[in-house]
Amino acid sequence: MRPDGTVVIAGAGQGDFQTAASLRDGGHAGPVVFIGDETGLPYQRPPLSKGFLQGNTAGTELRGRSFYERRGIELRHGRAAAIDRAARRVRLADGSTLAYDHLVLATGARNRTPPISGTALDGLLQLRTRAEAERLRARLSAVSQVSVIGAGFIGMEVAAAAVKAGATVTVVEPLGRPMARSLSAVTSAYVAELHRSHGARLLLGSSAVRLHGGRDGAVEGVELDDSSRVRADLVIAGVGVAPATELAADAGLKVGDGIRVDAFLTTSDPDVSALGDCADFPSVHAGAAIRLESVQNAVDQARCVAARLTGTPAPYEALPWFWTEQFSAKLQIAGLGRDHDRTTVLGAPATDAFSVLRFKNGRLTCVESVNAPGDHIAARRVLASGNTPCPGEAAEDGFSLRDWAAHAT
Ligand code: FAD
Repeated sequence: MRPDGTVVIAGAGQGDFQTAASLRDGGHAGPVVFIGDETGLPYQRPPLSKGFLQGNTAGTELRGRSFYERRGIELRHGRAAAIDRAARRVRLADGSTLAYDHLVLATGARNRTPPISGTALDGLLQLRTRAEAERLRARLSAVSQVSVIGAGFIGMEVAAAAVKAGATVTVVEPLGRPMARSLSAVTSAYVAELHRSHGARLLLGSSAVRLHGGRDGAVEGVELDDSSRVRADLVIAGVGVAPATELAADAGLKVGDGIRVDAFLTTSDPDVSALGDCADFPSVHAGAAIRLESVQNAVDQARCVAARLTGTPAPYEALPWFWTEQFSAKLQIAGLGRDHDRTTVLGAPATDAFSVLRFKNGRLTCVESVNAPGDHIAARRVLASGNTPCPGEAAEDGFSLRDWAAHAT
């Protein structure tokens, strides 16, 4: 792309912001315009399910207004409604159009609604946007019985916040353990025990089938698949997201579980890139096309796209990492732990500080660290280097990830 070309970015979230900032860092001199359908300045979502719900509402914006003014980045409020790829124009919902030399799609994802009856009742909330977090925070201070449907990352973080707000909390989850799709059994069991020790009730292996309400249309309880009921004056659904792909699909771009991109994050149209929660990309770490929902992924993919557009193309190969905070536990995950055949635990869950090393076919693929930030940083270095310990080495007395990182990377 020409250094003075126009880059239009659809979306104004984490990845969109980073694309714009990194384009300027990389010396892009042409117009950079991003289109956001939320109000206000771009903000980060992680605090919304953590400190924000406990009243710590400051500092969610990624940058103040002057940052965009100084760097010549234009933020348009509105919804990107259609792409005319032949003319290289984006049409906004208000009918205006924007010409682009390159278009970046970082439209994120939207919460799924649980497929149960009663979801129109007042008192079922979801959490994705700051507006939803504000509503949830206000409701949490006024209710006593909270049910959380889904024990994924967001569900468990919100459950912890609701307990801290003084509510009686029940989490309903069809799988047998919390965050089961991402965590080893050891870490999952630790998280379950942590919540129980703070008074939360976990109904694992149970599915919500219906919400019940009173005459006033307000939710009163959740019916489970065994016909029992859990009382609730607030229900929070955390049942996953669907990538926002309709803009791409309507424009004829290839879409799978997200907008399909190649190793350089280019879509099936060389003038259009996609990144972040909405992008289905070939992962060298998974050995397959995947979609990831994390700040690391959105930020590093944005940097990768900006580098390509400013003349230093490289395939996207960054090591995935994630984090969550629940009660006093900070859990950090390096690598992808979707599957493993062996684990080694460093430290002990009983001490509230430990790491679980997950191996597949003799290779270290993922390290989960609870209150062990040094292990996490070392794990990122070790996994990124490819020079990883085998299960036998990690099981030896005195094995330390930090020592391994110091000597082997
Ligand atoms: P987003 O940041 O979601 O931005 C996409 C933006 O595009 C949105 O504002 C959307 O409204 C807008 N948009 C969509 N379609 C259009 C359109 N047609 N026109 C204009 N605008 C449009 N990740 C972590 O790593 N750690 C955490 O602890 C963590 N906590 C989280 C807590 C919560 C409550 C949530 C919701 C997410 C959390 N995440 C966390 C995930 C992380 O925030 C996302 O992975 C990240 O924001 C993805 O960035 P993105 O740019 O792809 O999408």
